[in-house]
Amino acid sequence: MKIRYELLDKSKRKSPPSKVEGFGQTRTNHMFMVDFENGEWKDPRIIPYNKFPMSPGAVSLHYGQNIFEGAKAFKHSNGEIYVWRWEENAKRLNHSAYVTMMAQIPVELQTEGLLRLLDVERDWCPEEPESSMYIRPFMFGTEDTLGVKASSTYTYCIMLSPSGAYYKGGFNNAVTLLITEKYHRAVSGGTGTAKTGGNYSASLLPAAHAYSKGCAQVLYLDATNQYVEEAGTMNHYHVMDDGTFIIPEFNDSILRSTTSSAVLELAAMGKVKARQEVVEVKKFLSDIKSGKIIEAGGFGTAAVVSPVGKYMFDDGSTITVGDGGVGKHSRALYELYMGMQVGSTPAPEGWLTKVERYEQK
Ligand SMILES: *Cc1c(COP(=O)(O)O)cnc(C)c1O
Repeated sequence: MKIRYELLDKSKRKSPPSKVEGFGQTRTNHMFMVDFENGEWKDPRIIPYNKFPMSPGAVSLHYGQNIFEGAKAFKHSNGEIYVWRWEENAKRLNHSAYVTMMAQIPVELQTEGLLRLLDVERDWCPEEPESSMYIRPFMFGTEDTLGVKASSTYTYCIMLSPSGAYYKGGFNNAVTLLITEKYHRAVSGGTGTAKTGGNYSASLLPAAHAYSKGCAQVLYLDATNQYVEEAGTMNHYHVMDDGTFIIPEFNDSILRSTTSSAVLELAAMGKVKARQEVVEVKKFLSDIKSGKIIEAGGFGTAAVVSPVGKYMFDDGSTITVGDGGVGKHSRALYELYMGMQVGSTPAPEGWLTKVERYEQK
């Protein structure tokens, strides 16, 4: 499909900051947008980043028909920009669309839109170590109707946010997670496998509860409080004393992290030791106490690896994993993964997609 360019006059464009700081704060000049109407995707275009015209009755505003993704691109030392495992995100967006009764959007259209947008905004891709161009694709129902039903029209959009290194002072901090029986993220038969806004609005109150106890996040259990599920914006992992990463078996209340999937693919290639298991809370805690579990943490695109040093319970008591700091296996995996993303370590075939230089007409 031919993409229309409606670019800002060069004199009206903001210049990229000399150094990007923080995560998700900065915006570039343009975004990609395409609309779904009468069963078809129409008018894919790159336009100035601006407010949306939106009907007050749009389904997404009332009944939460909205989904999103998060991916990253990196500038390598050869000056070219590479997108990390993008197809995984494009396919997962369609899974989220399926769960929320939204239109499917061809992966090729998502990819074409992204690569052309990244090409237009190439000067905005940061170069400092561990910084990235964060990519935020999203889709929402636009039909003006107050009856509860799936929208017949949608908008898909990609915005970009140049982001600084997630770990500003280096990869040295291990956080505390709250293990609570009070809140649950998702249930079997629910929407837990979709990256949909509703799952996130539902996570804000539990997160505030966790912060009030000095914890970084909730480690969600399944609805029966027997099994470890995930951390709300990250999948969970623990490391056994032989160095094997264990990720809870995916089920229909755990979101399939593309980072977890990449780690499992690296394991299949013999580059790390990792596998999935159903993780029983009781066994998990007794293995931490006995020292069989030596490290733990979370996997997700934003932080890649986020080490956990402690868990807190509803009564305020805590349990420490290993020495409570960042363990060597978590660090080694972080360094391997980041190295592949930024091009200092070879990545498996097909994991990086180069952004071409297109003619902008
Ligand atoms: C996005 C997300 C993750 C992490 O997935 P990645 O693809 O690794 O970024 C984990 N859990 C939930 C609930 C998420 O929404």
